[in-house]
Amino acid sequence: MDCIFCKIVEGTIPSTKVFEDERVVGFLDIRPAAPVHVVIIPKKHISDMNGVEEEDLPLIADIHRAARQIAVERGVAESGYRLVNNCGPDSGQEVFHLHYHLLGGHKLGLPIA
Ligand code: C5P
Repeated sequence: MDCIFCKIVEGTIPSTKVFEDERVVGFLDIRPAAPVHVVIIPKKHISDMNGVEEEDLPLIADIHRAARQIAVERGVAESGYRLVNNCGPDSGQEVFHLHYHLLGGHKLGLPIA
């Protein structure tokens, strides 16, 4: 499958991984939008939030658990951070492998719409 995030999971294209366990990978975004910008993905290929099946719901919990750990390790757990999922054309989703952006490290702007 020609999916750039699957290739990051496999290690066939480079990335700076900051988290990995059995089911989830977190890596630094190559175009950071904030001082801390980590992309968190399931190893399983799921195109987007609309593609999450009932059986995948534990993976969403795994991603949130990873996000919490990454926030601690990147030093933003106390100062605050944002976890963003883009789904579909209006959201600006560019990569069709489910992912969450963990953003922090400075005062984040609102609104994001
Ligand atoms: O939510 P969206 O699909 O727009 O975000 C994809 C993100 O993946 C972008 O922020 C982009 O910079 C990041 N990316 C990356 N490494 C790649 C390809 C994309 O960090 N090799």
